[in-house]
Amino acid sequence: MSEQKLLQEILTYNQKFVDHHEYEKYETTKYPNKKMVILTCMDTRLLELLPKALNLGNGDAKIIKNAGALVSHPFGSIMRSILIAVYELQAQEVMVIAHHDCGMSGLKAEPVLKHMQEQGISEETLKTLAFSGINIKTWLHGFDNVADSVIHSVDIIKNHPLMPSHVPVHGLVINPKTGKLDLIIDGYQE
Ligand SMILES: [Zn+2]
Repeated sequence: MSEQKLLQEILTYNQKFVDHHEYEKYETTKYPNKKMVILTCMDTRLLELLPKALNLGNGDAKIIKNAGALVSHPFGSIMRSILIAVYELQAQEVMVIAHHDCGMSGLKAEPVLKHMQEQGISEETLKTLAFSGINIKTWLHGFDNVADSVIHSVDIIKNHPLMPSHVPVHGLVINPKTGKLDLIIDGYQE
């Protein structure tokens, strides 16, 4: 299976990486040098581009990623991670960085549900979830406008009852090709 091949490839490479002490140039601490926590998207194009475009090296920032750079629930794991970064890991500023051409932009639940069923998720399972009060369509829905989505996520973070009011929360959108940042919300002005 291709998955097994990928895993083997990674483990073989990893052995050499460790044996040759290639980790030494990445040594740092768990505290961000630039005192910041970033929430961004899991998009593949941002893997190296985003840190390079922001002049971030290993150790400079805490980076949280999910699909769409969204804070969809004030007491979900994204918000918890941001709070832990602020209270326990010395982050003093928060940046939400979404991007143009995001997979979550315009994402509707229906095609995702169709793909789930094609891969063996039964109608019965979906019905059981619905009966349990889980609105799977809302949960899977992406966003319609990236800037509005950033404003919404910044708003949830900034106004969270457990977030200290002095922490600036910035909102930006990055171009996944050029790395150009558009400032949506300047957290120092809020
Ligand atoms: Zn994205």
